[in-house]
Amino acid sequence: MIEIISVGGYEEVGKNMTVIKYKDEAVVLDMGYHLPSLTKFQREGGDKKYLTVKGMQKLGAIPDDSKLDKSIVKAIVPSHCHLDHIGGIMYMEGAYNAPIYASPYTIEVMKILAKDDKKEFKNDLIVKKLGSKFKVSENIEIELIAMTHSTLDAAMIAIHTPDGIIIYSNDFKLDNKPVMGKRPDVARLKELGKTGKVKALILDALYSSTPGKSFSESVAREMLKDVMLGTENTGHALIVTSFASQIARLKSAVEFGKKINRKVVFLGRSLAKYTKAAENLGYAPWMKDVEVVTYAGQVKKKLKIIEANRGKYLICCTGNQAEENAILTRLGRKELPFKFQKDDHVVFSCRTIPVEPNITNRAKLEKQFIKEGVRVFKDIHASGHGAIEDARDLIEMLNPEIIIPGHGAMDQTGGITSLTDGMGYKTGKDVIFMEDVKTLKLK
Ligand SMILES: [Zn+2]
Ligand SMILES: [Zn+2]
Repeated sequence: MIEIISVGGYEEVGKNMTVIKYKDEAVVLDMGYHLPSLTKFQREGGDKKYLTVKGMQKLGAIPDDSKLDKSIVKAIVPSHCHLDHIGGIMYMEGAYNAPIYASPYTIEVMKILAKDDKKEFKNDLIVKKLGSKFKVSENIEIELIAMTHSTLDAAMIAIHTPDGIIIYSNDFKLDNKPVMGKRPDVARLKELGKTGKVKALILDALYSSTPGKSFSESVAREMLKDVMLGTENTGHALIVTSFASQIARLKSAVEFGKKINRKVVFLGRSLAKYTKAAENLGYAPWMKDVEVVTYAGQVKKKLKIIEANRGKYLICCTGNQAEENAILTRLGRKELPFKFQKDDHVVFSCRTIPVEPNITNRAKLEKQFIKEGVRVFKDIHASGHGAIEDARDLIEMLNPEIIIPGHGAMDQTGGITSLTDGMGYKTGKDVIFMEDVKTLKLK
């Protein structure tokens, strides 16, 4: 009998963690963290340095695995490098005796983040290529299936057991024309579906209320091209902000920046970390044309130079959600030596994550830019999460017996029933909404 334990990420977007158990063997899929609980704690004066694992669990910042029998866990398998999937690992893995298996980029990012935080892993980090299948215990085999998402080397994970297969799809979209990396391995997914052995699909249902299909990254690239090459920005500052782990988007920005003869400068430490991971693996040869500036003093010095030569540079930085300490937010607050002028360009190559404080902070930042005469371009973006038609395609390919909507609380994932109702799945029986720290026994 297979059991599915929903440790985290079923009542919030963040701190994803799911355990698949078969007899006395188990694997952990993801150990993420929930950034809003941490930032709230830090805003209220707390210092993350002094937080224990228990303290973080109490805050809701990492999954609560206190009830889990850790002695039966044979592997920890993060699906991709986003913090809501890997952010908890370096705090929690020490309580386990299990290797950590993941794709090359996922492992590389974990190593860089841990080094930066002066942390060491107790368990081995083992790189597995997308497309590989490997045994982790007597009865469990893991397969990493190539999938597209908003970062590199994302995997859809198949857990093979003698009783059938579980598919873990957090996070995915079906992008047939990704700007970097492989296309989704649709042939393999169909093959698994044809076996009739897919017992359950844990479905990334975050955007299940969004109609249609998520746009391809190549569409976002065209949108960015349109803004960067199709507007009059000669002689004006040009700033593009996106997510540090959105390497394909950064690649597009760098290429268009070069096309308009601008020197490209990446500002900030998180951009440095994620792009370094890509460079280390040989994924980002275009980084040779980019100057990366990380330390506060150097950032200030560089900004002074850029201010005096504003038409000659392209700045890429974080702060797309107007996060408190990000470069763009600090530029907005005038804490850095750079003054905006009328007709400077700020391109938000992202979508505002629809939670507080992001909504309020972003609105405030935009309003201020507009007041200063800055030209603001926003939503130059394609999401990394599939919309409802991506979910339909995935369900049809895999033909799972049951569906467990994941990556959010029911008010976010509940939209999926409008699809599954019409596909013959009965909510409550075949579509099962879980809460955090619950166990589902499969027949
Ligand atoms: Zn993700
Ligand atoms: Zn996620």
